Amino acid sequence: MTTPITIIGAGLGGLTLARVLHVHGIPVTVYEAEPSPTARSQGGMLDIHDYNGQLALKAAGLMDEFRGLILEGRQAMRVLDRDGTVLFDKADDGTGGRPEVHRGELRQILLDSLPVGTVRWGHKVSSTRALGEGRQKVTFADGSTVVTSLLVGADGAWSRVRPLLSDATPEYVGRSFVETWLFDSDTRHPAAAKAVGGGSLLALAPGKGIQAHRESGGTLHTYVALSKPQDWFAAIDFTDPAAATARIAQEFDGWAPELTELITDSDTAPVLRLLNSLPIGHRWDRVPGVALVGDAAHLSAPNGEGANLAMYDGAELGKALAAHPDDIEAALTEYEQAMFPRSTEAATEGAELHGLMFGGNAPHSLIAAFTGHEQAQ
Ligand SMILES: Cc1cc2nc3c(=O)[nH]c(=O)nc-3n(C[C@H](O)[C@H](O)[C@H](O)COP(=O)(O)OP(=O)(O)OC[C@H]3O[C@@H](n4cnc5c(N)ncnc54)[C@H](O)[C@@H]3O)c2cc1C
Repeated sequence: MTTPITIIGAGLGGLTLARVLHVHGIPVTVYEAEPSPTARSQGGMLDIHDYNGQLALKAAGLMDEFRGLILEGRQAMRVLDRDGTVLFDKADDGTGGRPEVHRGELRQILLDSLPVGTVRWGHKVSSTRALGEGRQKVTFADGSTVVTSLLVGADGAWSRVRPLLSDATPEYVGRSFVETWLFDSDTRHPAAAKAVGGGSLLALAPGKGIQAHRESGGTLHTYVALSKPQDWFAAIDFTDPAAATARIAQEFDGWAPELTELITDSDTAPVLRLLNSLPIGHRWDRVPGVALVGDAAHLSAPNGEGANLAMYDGAELGKALAAHPDDIEAALTEYEQAMFPRSTEAATEGAELHGLMFGGNAPHSLIAAFTGHEQAQ
């Protein structure tokens, strides 16, 4: 079977590209490994920035739908010391450019905006092969194949499309997150709820931190960050939630109880999220008929930009293809020439942010950066 534009991956990057192409009347097919839109929980909230994610949603014609998803007040942010002292506190005055939405709801408005059948669920790509003259063959896990004249890898960190362009593979960044959730916190965990406040909380120290967010209602979603090697995490039995929780909490001995409650009182088993990244500045020579968007192109340790950049990449590639309907290579060149420096800059800033958050002078290094930034405005 031959399809015109083929996207692998129905994450935010691939779906934004599909939607922008659809807005411009360009047919597209998205192949997604997961069996259905609801097969996997889509995780927590994302702040969608006015300088990238929101521009992508404008290009997708979905700003009204997006505004309907925004959780008011969630842009408040505070930084605490390990003893619970509030060192920095910024209220949400409604003027911030980073409103928060649920990732799953954002993905759903993109899915709803595409013609039925655009996304082919349950299609896990096992390999890709160049056939020459810009044509690519995609093989799925069930043995079926498609041949396409434009293949876009929007298939995330472990992309099966990326090998057509680059030998790079993600590497462990030296830090991981352990994810916990507390539900109905205002009644069941009032001290933790009060510490987190209306938006997000960062409690930081060199090499470790507790990052929590108030989601809908009283749900508190926490990423416990630890700068430890992979072996250290491998020695923890995450199939034994109580033991794993105790081992992680031990790293925060002596911290204020309203902070450690975010670990010890989790209503869900702790989930380990090993953090990987591609090399900063990852790029490749142009190969006819293949492109990458989002994490497939520039996976970074989470710094609040990844989903925004994936959507922005998708929108920019969609617009470039619409502007060059008879010249795919011109569109891909234009897209990549802007995407490479954009993602390099974001990854560099993200690495600097991690240094401020988890380096030897945390949390004061981060606060100095925040207050310096505010004074400059
Ligand atoms: C713990 C954590 C917290 C984060 N927090 C934030 C945040 O607050 N803000 C932010 O902007 N970013 C955040 N990020 C980063 C963000 O999640 C990613 O950058 C973003 O999801 C990338 O989007 P994508 O569309 O490129 O890839 P993905 O979201 O990974 O989507 C890829 C899709 O491709 C599918 N797929 C994968 N392999 C195949 C295959 N072989 N065949 C077919 N389909 C396949 C997957 O099932 C998936 O649906 C966070 C990341 C992590 C790990």
